[in-house]
Amino acid sequence: MADAKTILVIAEGEDRARELLYGAAQLGERVVFYCQDGGAINAGDVRLKAQEGVAFVEAIPALLAFAEAEKPDAILLETTQNCRLLAGELAAKLGTTPLCDAQSLSIENGKLFSERMVYGGAANRVENEPMPGAIALVAAAAYQPAEDAQAPAEQALEAVASPVKVTGIEEKVVESVNLAAAKTLVCVGRGFGAEEELKLAEDFARHVGGEIGCTRPISEGEGWMSSARYVGVSGLMLKPDVYFGLGISGQVQHMVGVNGARVVVAVNKDPKAPIFDQCDLGLVASVQEALPLLVDAL
Ligand SMILES: Cc1cc2nc3c(=O)[nH]c(=O)nc-3n(C[C@H](O)[C@H](O)[C@H](O)COP(=O)(O)OP(=O)(O)OC[C@H]3O[C@@H](n4cnc5c(N)ncnc54)[C@H](O)[C@@H]3O)c2cc1C
Repeated sequence: MADAKTILVIAEGEDRARELLYGAAQLGERVVFYCQDGGAINAGDVRLKAQEGVAFVEAIPALLAFAEAEKPDAILLETTQNCRLLAGELAAKLGTTPLCDAQSLSIENGKLFSERMVYGGAANRVENEPMPGAIALVAAAAYQPAEDAQAPAEQALEAVASPVKVTGIEEKVVESVNLAAAKTLVCVGRGFGAEEELKLAEDFARHVGGEIGCTRPISEGEGWMSSARYVGVSGLMLKPDVYFGLGISGQVQHMVGVNGARVVVAVNKDPKAPIFDQCDLGLVASVQEALPLLVDAL
């Protein structure tokens, strides 16, 4: 039985909103949600609906007022920059402290408990905040997505669009990729000696129907891939069905990002590489030689 009466879910994107809605349904009897792109979601009990054209940041004052008036037992947010900002403002308003990067949540004795990784994944920390008004920023893939059931009731959110008029938009070229949705993740590491060699991994990923990710040195050191693709404690935390680690040593800061993967496959030329202690299938080989052969063989 759910332990809390009302849980408020706030997310910008539909995918993350669905995960939070699933988690919220385990915790509370009534789930109210606001999702910027969530018009198609038929889950939860009440959808807060702002007027057409109201941007997420413009809805923040109304969401603060709603939380203050309704005093939900707990508020779950996704971990985007805007949601982190909102979590801080909510905490100041409600006199609490946000529980950050929660990987699981539970309720005990009127408190919201959150478990999250610390020390680069070497330990888990359990924290709690009293309810009502406990706030948690929930890590990606902490919950499975809620499926559509029945349409929620709708309640107007009195948010006002900014009087500032946009006269033109110049798009910043940033890569947008949703690795959280990838069932198969092909990650590359420093075993690739040159940017041109990444084509081998891209061909392999296409062949197995996977998305490409990388270790931090490939993104932040070499600059061969955008930061939207690096996986680990300071990047993305993912839960693919299958993870291929290609030319990756298997340091904890990277591997915690995929420790929920169902199957881990590693290719590394060093038989003593730590990744071989953490994989289900391991191939001792150079990626440059192995990948074309695997593409032919699979
Ligand atoms: C605070 C902190 C946070 C961090 N956060 C992250 C994070 O979020 N994500 C992350 O990824 N890292 C993170 N790191 C860095 C992390 O500790 C490792 O340094 C990094 O993950 C190593 O990347 P790598 O496996 O690509 O490179 P390396 O450790 O250099 O490993 C390369 C591997 O490739 C193998 N190899 C070499 N040539 C070949 C070949 N031809 N074929 C096959 N294999 C080959 C080698 O045997 C080696 O095992 C963090 C570090 C710190 C200190």
